[in-house]
Amino acid sequence: MPSTMQDEPLSLATLLRYASTVHADATVRTWTGTESRVLTYRELGEQAARLAHALTALGIGRGDRVGTFMWNNNEHLIAYCAVPAMGAVLHTINIRLFPEQITYVTDHAADRVVIVDASLIPVFAPVLPTLRTVRHVIVANGDAAALPAPEGVTVHEFDTLLAQYPGTFDFPVLDERSAAAMCYTSGTTGDPKGVVYSHRSNWLHSMQACTTDAMGVRAGDRMLAIVPMFHANAWGLPYAALMAGASLVMPDRFLQPEPLLALMAAEQPSFAAAVPTVWNGVLTAVDAKPQDLTHLRAVVVGGAAVPPQLMRAFEERHGVPIIQAWGMTETSPLGALAWPPAGLDGEAAFAYRITQGRIPAAVQARLVGDDGTELPRDGKAVGELEVRGPWVTASYYSPDAAGIGADAFRDGWLRTGDVGTISADGYLTLVDRAKDIIKSGGEWISSVDLENALMAHPDIAEAAVFGVPDEKWDERPVVAAALRAGVEPDAGALRAFLSDKVAKWQLPERWTFVSEVPKTSVGKFDKKVLRKQYAGDMSPPSARWIWLWHSGVRTRSPAWSTRPTCARRSPS
Ligand code: AMP
Repeated sequence: MPSTMQDEPLSLATLLRYASTVHADATVRTWTGTESRVLTYRELGEQAARLAHALTALGIGRGDRVGTFMWNNNEHLIAYCAVPAMGAVLHTINIRLFPEQITYVTDHAADRVVIVDASLIPVFAPVLPTLRTVRHVIVANGDAAALPAPEGVTVHEFDTLLAQYPGTFDFPVLDERSAAAMCYTSGTTGDPKGVVYSHRSNWLHSMQACTTDAMGVRAGDRMLAIVPMFHANAWGLPYAALMAGASLVMPDRFLQPEPLLALMAAEQPSFAAAVPTVWNGVLTAVDAKPQDLTHLRAVVVGGAAVPPQLMRAFEERHGVPIIQAWGMTETSPLGALAWPPAGLDGEAAFAYRITQGRIPAAVQARLVGDDGTELPRDGKAVGELEVRGPWVTASYYSPDAAGIGADAFRDGWLRTGDVGTISADGYLTLVDRAKDIIKSGGEWISSVDLENALMAHPDIAEAAVFGVPDEKWDERPVVAAALRAGVEPDAGALRAFLSDKVAKWQLPERWTFVSEVPKTSVGKFDKKVLRKQYAGDMSPPSARWIWLWHSGVRTRSPAWSTRPTCARRSPS
């Protein structure tokens, strides 16, 4: 029996219309280093209309891709609104990809127009002549003349271009299942893979983000989006803010701890989101120079495992609760958020908060064992996490039907590559990425568990653990640790610190001390680079390797070296 309900398509144009009228005085504010540039949502609506006219005049129609090569700022939000609302597809290009990868994703998506921040011209200009499909570049926030135009490409200036058009646009009614935006995975192995979001998926995802047990976004909130708008929709913050009428605070290129703290002092955000490495840096800076952060009702941290110590430190020393979230580019990205069950507090609640989170109603999750059978959700059985749901991708973008990344899907489920447990009450606990888990002497070592244990040591600023081949044990863990300023490396003491926290056979005997753990383009520990450095295929910039074990005797290595000298030695 059909329902009597109206079949109104879920469209991002309705979010723009709603925010720019009902919440016309809410604002998006972009930090300039000393103050913010402010745009009301009324003006956002007008600017989005002008951009839609401008793109139409440049030949952009339904389904055409418009790239952005931008920081988080007002102009990026205008593009976030205008491009999908007019029926085109927003492709947020990761500005931190290698030049060849930028070329690959722009060609693969067949972007016809790219909007570029002027401060990124030095990165974009060398790539532009290699782009096969781009015909127009719009330079925002600076001098368009600074970008040399190759033959066949016209360069425009954002404000000058938009000024030619009226501030209203008749946004079309669209099929809610049509493409609204696309984002490529960060591509740590192989080419980046494209995920295409629909109007419907982004709309439903925004509703999820606004729920109390997700981000609880509401009118009056000031949402600080540190997570880049080129990384999985800035975790859904922009569209959720429009849906709720919350204001947005954008850091632009000021992403180091001190400028972020200056921005927070000035703008007093009520909510913020970023990967753990960002919060780690902010913590060090705010510990050194205390500043009130209690305007933050919560911060969502995800993208990588959140060290419990980081959560405790923020809460106990600065009164800011960290909520861990799990997700992927492929899941829009919200897949789980770690609010504790009702009625718990203190350590009982904390035990839940350090999980990757509780799976929401719309996301189905299952664990699958090596033999492909489904495992029980008992909080004990460990398997690969597979998910499905209305904002989970069903495939990767494969314009020539190449079936890119088809092995990431099984019977309509997305194979996440994450390994962990699910409890009966729906909490996900990740042990590791399947490719990062370390198999030693037939047993598994979780690199994440070792990292979390290490990062609880007061001398350690950050620590990554990765597996390396070992003749006797198959694989052994290596620690790459960055120490706090002024601390001398002492692997023996750190190993002793770990000794009552992990099983004896898990204790790493190979340590390297680095000034900073290398990061991926989205700010996560880059274990691929660490493995290469370890193997000697890549020189570690300032790494010093220590071998704690030598001929079975625990010693501090007599000599520092820039490369491992006994990479094949195994523990006694
Ligand atoms: P990306 O698509 O770049 O956002 O990467 C997604 C991957 O990040 C996931 O498959 C996980 O491996 C990892 N990840 C995201 N959130 C968490 C978390 N809270 N804890 C551990 N790993 C996470």
